[in-house]
Amino acid sequence: MKENQIIEKIHSCLDCKKCLESCDTYLVTQDELKSPNGRLKIADKIYSNIEITDEELNSMYTCTLCGICDLVCVQKIPITEIIHASKAKLVELGKAPLEIHEKIIEGILKYNNSVNGNPEERLNWLPEKYKAEELFEQKDSDTLLFLGCMSSFRVKESASASYEILKKAHYDFKILKNEPCCGEYVYSAGKVEIAKKIMEDNFSLFKNLGIKNILVTCAGCLYAFNKIYPKYIKNFNINVKHVIQVIHELEKQGKIKLKPLNKRVSYHDACRMVRKLNNLKIYREPRELLEKTETSINELNKKEENTPCCGAGSGIRGVDSSITIKIGSKIFEEVNSKLIISACPLCVFNYRYVNYKTQNNIETKYITDFLLDALE
Ligand code: SF4
Ligand code: SF4
Repeated sequence: MKENQIIEKIHSCLDCKKCLESCDTYLVTQDELKSPNGRLKIADKIYSNIEITDEELNSMYTCTLCGICDLVCVQKIPITEIIHASKAKLVELGKAPLEIHEKIIEGILKYNNSVNGNPEERLNWLPEKYKAEELFEQKDSDTLLFLGCMSSFRVKESASASYEILKKAHYDFKILKNEPCCGEYVYSAGKVEIAKKIMEDNFSLFKNLGIKNILVTCAGCLYAFNKIYPKYIKNFNINVKHVIQVIHELEKQGKIKLKPLNKRVSYHDACRMVRKLNNLKIYREPRELLEKTETSINELNKKEENTPCCGAGSGIRGVDSSITIKIGSKIFEEVNSKLIISACPLCVFNYRYVNYKTQNNIETKYITDFLLDALE
């Protein structure tokens, strides 16, 4: 959107405040500055060249960019797009991002990952039995399994289980020895120019390797490759899927068989997988696969396109972890089982953090890790 269109959209807000009750950062803080309506008012100040306070800056960076406000706004204002554009504008003006973002972005540029992981440990997730045969870039395949920083370093079993299920189904794919960061964190922080450079470099790398398809394990990478890359990279013609879509296809084709586990779980839809990529609608596939294992699903009050963010979207945990813990706890109150399943490693990592902080005794598993136990 051009600046005049953004301003016009901001001014179309009726101040009806109907969006407040849908925004988790408002609900857990009861602070209007941390609501969609409040953030539009801050955006108005930014675009009117009025100095914003530290508290207002913090409000822009505690938005999870979950996108629920875009759905509920009576005026159909693209609120998350405006919040993101405002952050980018603040960066242009030299007033953002926050110190924590600068530190993480420095790590991304130096070590190619957003979690301060040692690059030499990036492949520690690779199952021992496959190490000798793995050819990495040399493998003749046009499909790349892109693990992302969270799966590679923080929720390693999401990488290893996804890899192993694909291997067992004799699915043709390759992985990279030195995988880069997708750039979503940098983009969300408002550092668009740096994010563009990361995206261009990654696209050249994929093209040079003849990649035509990418499978991802992370909702953030899925969103980046499906929505952000095509916006900034001309001719971005790579077909991008979540690994669970492919595993679902493989099960339908009889290439993998799942045996009963007879468990009871809660399934959390990652906001970036279902609402922000509502063209993909990836909520049927994980549920159907869980049902194949005769697992009963205790649905949360809000699911599919209305799903809440786990509380860690857009790096808000680094800005104000108390909001993350409150949002996570609110979701835990609805969980009527001892196990949450998610198809996003960031959600898994975050729920484990919230559980550690609140001692709720709720376990969280990445979906392929759960399904691996059911593989015949
Ligand atoms: S629902 Fe839309 S129009 Fe109403 S206050 Fe919220 S942002 Fe403004
Ligand atoms: S994107 Fe989510 S957290 Fe941000 S203002 Fe909208 S509803 Fe609130």
